[in-house]
Amino acid sequence: MRDPVTIVEVGLRDGLQILDRVVPTADKLAWLAAEHRAGVRRFEAASFVPPKLLPQMADAAAVVAGARALPGTVVHTLAPNLKGAAAALAAGSDVIVLPLSASEAHSRANIRKSREESVEELARVCRARDESVRGGGHAARIDAGISTAFGCTIQGEVPEDEVVRLCEACLEAGADRVALADTVGYADPAQVRRLYTRVKAVAGDRLQGAHFHDTRGLGLANVLAVLDLGIREFDSSLGGLGGCPHAPGASGNVATEDLAFMLESMGFDTGIDLEALIEAQRLLAAILPGQPLHGKIAAAGLPKSFRSPVHA
Ligand code: ZN
Repeated sequence: MRDPVTIVEVGLRDGLQILDRVVPTADKLAWLAAEHRAGVRRFEAASFVPPKLLPQMADAAAVVAGARALPGTVVHTLAPNLKGAAAALAAGSDVIVLPLSASEAHSRANIRKSREESVEELARVCRARDESVRGGGHAARIDAGISTAFGCTIQGEVPEDEVVRLCEACLEAGADRVALADTVGYADPAQVRRLYTRVKAVAGDRLQGAHFHDTRGLGLANVLAVLDLGIREFDSSLGGLGGCPHAPGASGNVATEDLAFMLESMGFDTGIDLEALIEAQRLLAAILPGQPLHGKIAAAGLPKSFRSPVHA
């Protein structure tokens, strides 16, 4: 039995949210289907934000419905507040991620809330979910996604004590899970190991996800650092799509195909067929002509020595 690792494809949310062009719903669904064929089963499919703020996500409910129609999928969505979470719940999200900034400056600049106000909003979302369950509704998992946990483009350093305290506050507010995000690609493996160890001491198994950007080339190194600590759920985006709004041209999330290649080569079970995933990457390149993609394995090809255990 190989050790299973879950990959959450976040390209449809994190990758697309900073693109200027609005990708048609049909193209998003073709992308989803291609990765589903490759064995990907978890998708952060959309963000429930006002369409006026982010026209790219105006079709969030339709994309969630499309993802749910694919057998075995687990659909994550992002919601910045109670209103968004209500829409995410109504659309049938299995996991709703509430982003909370560990950096007070980023929190105020990005969502115009202090960290305390964000935790209060999270508590309201958890209560709304519980009410919905009592009424026979859908039991979505609520994750607190701690953004800028490793540093911030506005205030620079984010004190680790504050990240740990924010995680504790989120769990007290009712979050089922906390996950740390290196939103701007500042983290290094030693820092990642240190902070995950500290948060794990207070959150235990409720610390699961890891969201690394490859902005400065350390994305996979950071994944390795937390694999050793027992973390088994990772966000990534096909083709490393996305970027950093503060660093034009910078690469985005860890590339799904590179992450899957590393994990499968090491003997972990991602459930993913690498060749089919590379085909999905080619489809994405066709959907977004001219868009730089950042992964390595699609360009280099799989090594001749690579044997995909999934299809062995
Ligand atoms: Zn991100």
